[in-house]
Amino acid sequence: MWTYEPPLPQMNFMLRQVLDAPATWAACPALADLDSATVQEVLKQAGRFAAEVLAPTNAPGDLQGCTLKDGAVTTPTGFREAYAQFVQGGWPALACAPEAGGQCLSQALNAALYEMLVSANHAWTMYPGLLHGAYEVLLHHGVPHLKETYLGKMTSGEWLATMCLTEAQAGSDLGLVRTKAQPVDGASPANGVPVRVSGNKIFISGGDHDLTPNIVHLVLCRLPDAPAGTKGLSLALVPKVLPDGTRNAVHCDGIEKKMGIKGSATCQMRFDQAQGWLIGEPNRGLAAMFLMMNAARLHVAMQGLAHLEAATQNAWRYAAERVQMRAAQRPEGAAPAAADPIAWHPAMRRTLWTLRAQAEGARLLALHTALRLDTAEQHPDPAERQQAGDDVALLTPVLKAFFTHLGHHGADEALGVFGGYGFVHDYGIEQSVRDSRIAMIYEGTNQIQAVDLLQRKVLDDGGTRLNRLLDRLAEEAVRCDAAGQGAAATALREQLRAWRQATQALLDGRTADPGWALRVADDYLHACGHALLAWAWATLLRASAGQDAPTARLFTQAAQVGLDWVLPQAGVHWQRVHTREAALPWLD
Ligand SMILES: Cc1cc2nc3c(=O)[nH]c(=O)nc-3n(C[C@H](O)[C@H](O)[C@H](O)COP(=O)(O)OP(=O)(O)OC[C@H]3O[C@@H](n4cnc5c(N)ncnc54)[C@H](O)[C@@H]3O)c2cc1C
Repeated sequence: MWTYEPPLPQMNFMLRQVLDAPATWAACPALADLDSATVQEVLKQAGRFAAEVLAPTNAPGDLQGCTLKDGAVTTPTGFREAYAQFVQGGWPALACAPEAGGQCLSQALNAALYEMLVSANHAWTMYPGLLHGAYEVLLHHGVPHLKETYLGKMTSGEWLATMCLTEAQAGSDLGLVRTKAQPVDGASPANGVPVRVSGNKIFISGGDHDLTPNIVHLVLCRLPDAPAGTKGLSLALVPKVLPDGTRNAVHCDGIEKKMGIKGSATCQMRFDQAQGWLIGEPNRGLAAMFLMMNAARLHVAMQGLAHLEAATQNAWRYAAERVQMRAAQRPEGAAPAAADPIAWHPAMRRTLWTLRAQAEGARLLALHTALRLDTAEQHPDPAERQQAGDDVALLTPVLKAFFTHLGHHGADEALGVFGGYGFVHDYGIEQSVRDSRIAMIYEGTNQIQAVDLLQRKVLDDGGTRLNRLLDRLAEEAVRCDAAGQGAAATALREQLRAWRQATQALLDGRTADPGWALRVADDYLHACGHALLAWAWATLLRASAGQDAPTARLFTQAAQVGLDWVLPQAGVHWQRVHTREAALPWLD
């Protein structure tokens, strides 16, 4: 049956021995007190909550789903109790600023927390999943009276938040949003001004639920006479319950019947002259919302890793228990038997190690990126903050799209390890395949991430920020050489060379063929993902080779498998990036 064991040994080893997180934190006064004992304890408690409280609600929540009656959503049995424990444990405030009631612990710990929560129950984690992003928007763009009323309640998790962007005609293209915001009593629009919000939103995660008494909706809307397109979008805070305790005109008209994450209420919302307040400057709503969307994109990247990890664990366990046929070669000293564990068959070993190599590589990249986010937010030197922020901006779309791809396809590969049992509900892996699919779609589809990466983050500045990132990644090859890991150094250098070459080719050909980048953006992103994995595997190998501890041995083997068996896939993607002349016919 489906089980979950938090990967605490890997997380601790990566943070301390591989990434030297304490050095990053020591350079940031707000994080300087974070010691190894605290980190270990936080991770341990987070893992306990995920495995013991959340995981048992995962499969039943999938079968039960949410219900809507008289305009109110009920979540599956056990979700409310789990959320109450989450709030009591102070988890929502983990990475929030102390002045807002937060604990100001590292973003890396927050990332690790969310990996474990999603592995245990993706649907449940959708409810608090947007809270940190909403908190960031209010903290940075809200006027004092709104912060006073809402920030503390959100930091503590007493009230949850939503992100209301999508409308029936406006999905990837938010410029088509129609929801209106009318300033009250003819006031001129400005940050904090009261507005009446009217319009319909669809696909709103946690639009209504029974976990908290109030829900803070952040709604993308349009002021009267606003310019068309994204430059005319504003953002409003619209609570379910108003400060005087009365119910606002915010209605949940329906919940979607979905392929997966069935315990997460995906709501059709109607705002009917609802009372709200502007957050941020008029017509600058999308810029404010980007704070939330970037936080949410990293969060979704963790969802991909979380599914990959849970699927990998369950496939490994099942493959060790299930016996079928005698293996052509058997481990030394194995007792004779009529049939061997399927984990001994070479085809299964390849699948299982590929999954493990991808999971460990992705985890290292995720924690590395979260530490860069710590530097971007907390370092006292503006130049360091800028450089780290540039890295995070580049890495975010790659991690969002590549990890969610790995998560879903990894869950599918893991399902194959279970044979026919994988296809039936009781083993849980089919739920992972269904639940993991959505992460490739929301928060900007993976195609949209690819276009964002290549056009906005790489080509628009002539590759300047990218080259700085690649220079930094190349330092690992030097370290590998010095540690006697010459093959890993060569593999990494080869990927970085291919990355620079492909980028330069696209820059050179951009004017003559503006469509080229759009045709190959998906391959470019996947190739970048593999190149980043090469960096992660080289780093893991260099930091753990020759050590006897079980985690170090696991990293050494996984990294070697990654470099030998998985990395060659990068070649196909780099090759396709260069197919400039290939025809792509119009559809009749
Ligand atoms: C379960 C669930 C939860 C969600 N939660 C929320 C939420 O909390 N808040 C919220 O606001 N929204 C939410 N969404 C909406 C989600 O973000 C959108 O579905 C998503 O952004 C895609 O929009 P769309 O469905 O309209 O697809 P479309 O935009 O119509 O896209 C259809 C296809 O066309 C492709 N495409 C479109 N434009 C381009 C382009 N320029 N280049 C290349 N390909 C392109 C897309 O990649 C996609 O494959 C949720 C959706 C679901 C299913």
